[in-house]
Amino acid sequence: MSPETLLSQQSPVQTSPAPAAPAVAVFQPEVFDQHVMTTYGRFPIALEKGRGCRVWDIQGREYLDFVAGIATCTLGHAHPVMVDAVSQQIQKLHHVSNLYYIPEQGALAQWLTEHSSADRVFFCNSGAEANEGALKLARKYAHQQLGIQEPVVITAQASFHGRTLATVTATGQPKYQKDFNPLMPGFHYVPYNDLAAMEEAISTLDADQRRVAAILLEPLQGEGGVRPGNPIYFKRLRQLCDEKGILLIFDEVQVGMGRTGNLWGHETLGAEPDIFTLAKGLGGGVPIGAMLCKRHCDVLGPGDHASTFGGNPFVCGVALRVCQTLEQAHLLENVRARGQQLRTGLRAIAQKYSALLTGARGWGLINGLVLREDTELTSIEIVKAAMAEGLLLVPAGPKVVRFVPPLIVAPSEVDQALEVVDRALAQLS
Ligand SMILES: *Cc1c(COP(=O)(O)O)cnc(C)c1O
Repeated sequence: MSPETLLSQQSPVQTSPAPAAPAVAVFQPEVFDQHVMTTYGRFPIALEKGRGCRVWDIQGREYLDFVAGIATCTLGHAHPVMVDAVSQQIQKLHHVSNLYYIPEQGALAQWLTEHSSADRVFFCNSGAEANEGALKLARKYAHQQLGIQEPVVITAQASFHGRTLATVTATGQPKYQKDFNPLMPGFHYVPYNDLAAMEEAISTLDADQRRVAAILLEPLQGEGGVRPGNPIYFKRLRQLCDEKGILLIFDEVQVGMGRTGNLWGHETLGAEPDIFTLAKGLGGGVPIGAMLCKRHCDVLGPGDHASTFGGNPFVCGVALRVCQTLEQAHLLENVRARGQQLRTGLRAIAQKYSALLTGARGWGLINGLVLREDTELTSIEIVKAAMAEGLLLVPAGPKVVRFVPPLIVAPSEVDQALEVVDRALAQLS
């Protein structure tokens, strides 16, 4: 494309041929690491294209992708709906700012509220940001509606809520917090799925003149080891929150958008939140986050909270198409059936290698293969062995291997993944 065209006020889209993508001839991890902060422990492959549930690295090696950008690529890679949605929206309008009304944002919010118990939505760009928004909302609600000056938010041990200062404080895992003191005040941690511990924490804090404004939990702990919430616990917790006037916030960043076989993870638990957050699967891979709440706790007004990119036409236009496709393609049915198939297969594998594994757990298409605590073997070794055999997986802590494929995954692909895991374990045992 000529410099004149690039500066032209006319859209070059219709008139010029697409520019050739710059070729990455040789990829050198050492050069990459010189220029990019080494905040991630990366596997030594570079991926350059994908289709459906498959991706290819720069050497042309094919992988079956059971990571899906960490539970993010809802429709897999290069799905016709994604290709169409992205190109349609970029040619129409991609960003303007929230100084103006954005029809795509309104339409996506309407879809989300019509398909959930929430009434209002705030859009941002990531899971951490969605949780930040929820925490700010809870604090303002506490100040304004409950007269609590120093509100406390209770979260669970082994939880994961993000990497910003507030959300890493909310995250009940010291390994993410070390080196970042002082953390945010106003958080307290309890064991997950333990009602007695929750009741005790609330009354101990109360006696200490520290009042609880909100409880923030994942319906299923993803990063913390694919630990499903207990429906009895969550239903009782809902009652407890109603009795005490405490807001119940669910972090649905990983389990929302159909991943569990229901649209929302909390449907599996039979407990409705006052506030919940979304990100990963919402945009099918474009960066978008959302914080949703019921009308009664929507206390944020003009000037209280904002995001430059949040809810722009591009991400909302694409996310709306992802949502519609989830419905039209009956993806929830596929999630349930493939999830069942995967868990059954993983459980058989766990029995076969019972010296290494204790079993498999999860809902829909978020599942964990659980290693025995008394083996030397760690999840990362299984992930590496599977990768060498052409299957991408991701650890959820040192003793759980996570399976989060695109929601469009086919029966034959689940079978193939199971075969690879079997082979990888045969090598390791
Ligand atoms: C991934 C994740 C987050 C953080 O999302 P980012 O987009 O990385 O900020 C928060 N909560 C849960 C449950 C997650 O799985």
